[in-house]
Amino acid sequence: MPKSVEEICAELDVAARFHQPMRHLTSLRTGGEIACVAFPDTPEKAAALVARLEEHGLRWSPLGYGTNLLVADGPLDRVAISLRQLKTPVRFEGCQVKVPAGYSLPRLVNQCADRGLSGIEGLAPIPGSVGGAVKMNAGSHGYEIADVIVSVDVARERRIVTLPRETLDFAYRHSPFTERDLILGTTLQLRPGNPEASRAEIAEYRRHRAATQPVRDNSAGCIFKNPGPGLATGRIIDELGMKGETIGGATISPVHANFIVTNGSARAADVFALIERIRSRVREARGIELDMEVEVWE
Ligand SMILES: Cc1cc2nc3c(=O)[nH]c(=O)nc-3n(C[C@H](O)[C@H](O)[C@H](O)COP(=O)(O)OP(=O)(O)OC[C@H]3O[C@@H](n4cnc5c(N)ncnc54)[C@H](O)[C@@H]3O)c2cc1C
Repeated sequence: MPKSVEEICAELDVAARFHQPMRHLTSLRTGGEIACVAFPDTPEKAAALVARLEEHGLRWSPLGYGTNLLVADGPLDRVAISLRQLKTPVRFEGCQVKVPAGYSLPRLVNQCADRGLSGIEGLAPIPGSVGGAVKMNAGSHGYEIADVIVSVDVARERRIVTLPRETLDFAYRHSPFTERDLILGTTLQLRPGNPEASRAEIAEYRRHRAATQPVRDNSAGCIFKNPGPGLATGRIIDELGMKGETIGGATISPVHANFIVTNGSARAADVFALIERIRSRVREARGIELDMEVEVWE
């Protein structure tokens, strides 16, 4: 007999909120109402939740901090699983750190710096969760999270498995994880460093960001991937004179052309329309097919 999400969450003792507006859960501030957001507080409950939802044919998606998401105007008939309330602590052992997926990436970078652990300073300005960073293979300033991963814990096919880095095929803004994988945590290998040097490096990256990106506006970071080595999508869009172009509540950022920023009343449809406009102008002018960097839920 099929069960409802309410029944499954109650059975597993998983906190859940129903009919949540995704515009409150994403940094782009667009998106319609999602059926449910569930907050398991242990990896075991998270894995059991995935198994139960799948058993009953209910659609689910992992939700990090929503900083790389473009969610359609909805309604969305699915369960977002947020790992923000996982109680698993961060564990430091020598130069390794084991960290739960719902943990804040900037917070982790700061903590590592304070402990004299170096190797992820460049990830400090990326505003997402650790799980989201692993899924997206987030990177900046020459750093990529995949470079320091030792292993990743994943709820997959009703079990929790630990996958060693050498079995995982990462590439630029790409990981091997599918929509059916819930990343529960990761172990990172850092190296001995100097807290002051790391803090200074992080401060420099943050200063650079504030000067070159619309960090105070609503955005999902870069909308498109760079099309190849030495080719920056932002520069291509800028050269086409598109900065400042607006559809509804969505605008190509005048600060960085690979960012779409939204005002409080933007609809996802405005963002989709602007994306299509950019893609077709870049295709016509440069013969380049732009790939999305942001993940789309529709
Ligand atoms: C101002 C700004 C600057 C940014 N700068 C950068 C940058 O320099 N470099 C960069 O790489 N990115 C950047 N981003 C994009 C974004 O912050 C990163 O992609 C980040 O890693 C996404 O993490 P998140 O927790 O917000 O993931 P979400 O946006 O919540 O999710 C992104 C995708 O990951 C999946 N996901 C999330 N958590 C999990 C999990 N536990 N298990 C499995 N899948 C999961 C989601 O289902 C979704 O498909 C920027 C964004 C903003 C707003």
